[in-house]
Amino acid sequence: MKKGHISVETENIFPIIKKFLYSDHEIFLRELVSNAVDATQKLKVLSKNGEYDKEVKDLQVEVILDKAAKTLTIRDNGIGMTADEIDKYINQIAFSGAEEFVQKYKDSDSKESIIGHFGLGFYSAFMVAEKVEINTLGRYDDAKAVKWTSNGTTEYSIEASDKATRGTDIVLHITDESAEFLEEARIRGILDRYCKFLPVPVIFGTYTKQIDDPSGEKDEEGNVKKISKEVPNQINNPSPAWTKMPADLEKEDYSKFYRELYPSTIEDPLFHIHLNVDYPFNLTGILYFPKIKENVEVQKNKIQLYSNQVFITDNVEEIVPEFLTLLHGVIDSPDIPLNVSRSYLQSDSNVKKISAHISKKVSDKLKQMFNKDRKDFEEKWSDLRIFSEYGMLSDDKFAERAKAFHLMETTDGKFVTPEEYKEEVKATQTDKDGKTIFLYTNNKEEQYSFVKAANDRGYKVIELQGPLAAHWVQKMEMSLEDVSFARVDADTLDKLIQKDEEIPSKLSEKEQEELKPVFEGVVNKDMFKVQFESMSESEAPIMVTQPEFIRRMKEQQAMGGAGFYGAFPETYNMIVNSNHPKISSILAAKGEEQAQKAKQLTDLAMLAQGMLKGEALTDFVNRSIDLV
Ligand code: ADP
Repeated sequence: MKKGHISVETENIFPIIKKFLYSDHEIFLRELVSNAVDATQKLKVLSKNGEYDKEVKDLQVEVILDKAAKTLTIRDNGIGMTADEIDKYINQIAFSGAEEFVQKYKDSDSKESIIGHFGLGFYSAFMVAEKVEINTLGRYDDAKAVKWTSNGTTEYSIEASDKATRGTDIVLHITDESAEFLEEARIRGILDRYCKFLPVPVIFGTYTKQIDDPSGEKDEEGNVKKISKEVPNQINNPSPAWTKMPADLEKEDYSKFYRELYPSTIEDPLFHIHLNVDYPFNLTGILYFPKIKENVEVQKNKIQLYSNQVFITDNVEEIVPEFLTLLHGVIDSPDIPLNVSRSYLQSDSNVKKISAHISKKVSDKLKQMFNKDRKDFEEKWSDLRIFSEYGMLSDDKFAERAKAFHLMETTDGKFVTPEEYKEEVKATQTDKDGKTIFLYTNNKEEQYSFVKAANDRGYKVIELQGPLAAHWVQKMEMSLEDVSFARVDADTLDKLIQKDEEIPSKLSEKEQEELKPVFEGVVNKDMFKVQFESMSESEAPIMVTQPEFIRRMKEQQAMGGAGFYGAFPETYNMIVNSNHPKISSILAAKGEEQAQKAKQLTDLAMLAQGMLKGEALTDFVNRSIDLV
């Protein structure tokens, strides 16, 4: 037996590493299983290059739990190591990696920079083990098996071993503190998280399988009898869908893989995008579009990030633009640096390129679906709308591309892109300043009378709904030329789309002055501002509107916090149509009758806006009954 001293300064790095990686203990298993997988892959490469002439088959990694002996063993039949290789790769490199890590984080309190750290490698075994053995036989004909032992200090010993088969056993003697890692369910859980798609079979435990009786004995019906047999339990799928070529996959394969990723989801995704890039960075993956309804938060953070099929994280916010975190699926890239802090990731140029690429792929896919089968696209739109709005708001390039496929639904049930709508309404809905007015409603039932009035004039009204609509409108006004949005009930149509021609007023200024106090006398003056407007006779006699800018201000304040909200009073315009015959008849009436008629008309205007409630509504109903 040979004893040695590992060439690092720190006497005992074990406690330091342990302390820093506390929240992430379980990753030791990912590190060791990944090393084992690498060892098998290296053998494959050597064999391909003719540097290894024996048959390479049945490569696998096995995780063996021995509760009685308090050990966990990670076994592979890969390249193995010679004593010299152990010296080079473990004593010098692996430990110097650990040393570097300790130096880097010794004085830092920031947990953040350590969580998600990747690549501590072999040394992470000491987070859970008081003693680690490497029992290994190299790949050469004359290789001698060796056993290396260390207890996490800088001391190690190396001696001859009787291991007879090629490959490496890493034996961890688990500390009492880490006894959880001697529980089968715990290990199974970790393997399921990190190792589910590793490229060689990973075996953990056995399960009972019914097989044909080898003796060939038959039952009464003449079928070969079945017996129970314990067979190795493979926990992973070594060739997940994203590693295959799209041409080799059917639609069902993608659905099947979706279920594999999210066993508990019931709904099928809408469609998918298969990513496959090898220049200027490596990226594969499959992204699924879920059905995104109003409940955006539950959909988020389901994308899983892998590096060469090793699970890294399901927190990809720094890697893809935020709106894409609504998608589901897998991204696999060895080019995303994994051993750096999250804040660094955002500024990494590869990460930026990857993120831009994914965003482009997603908009390309939507565009392609739009072009290929518009009807189908329109049917899916209610599930895509929020995603697209979110994308347009958070990513300018996406917004630019989305103009070609983003749909708005008109109140008569047609779907149009912003460009199409503009083209369609340009002739009728352009005001005297050359601005084309996009008329919208956020509730066509509540704003029915306004929508109808607009339609009667030949105007087209679009429906905008959901939490992002107000922001989206702002965004579109900035990016579409000579366009502004107005909600149908923001003003009279003549004001919303101001044309050159003015309608002469039937009531003179003097008559208007005379009538104004009559209306002010029947409404809450702090809330409603009475104004006369010279509108067409066919319009309503009185309308309640809320100016577009006041409403937007309120909407934005509402999102910004309640304090602000309170500061802005609820105010409306009560617009009196000075050309309507009923208004003339109120002018002609006297005293009590005049006030009653005025009250009836203002109540009707409020009713049309859904603002007549409670006592006021009951009074209105009773008064109306009397009128009959
Ligand atoms: P990394 O894997 O990042 O190189 P590690 O500390 O995990 O760092 O491992 C150091 C080296 O030890 C590896 O690069 C490899 O050469 C060797 N090694 C580790 N585990 C095995 C194994 N199971 N079989 C063969 N070689 C191994």
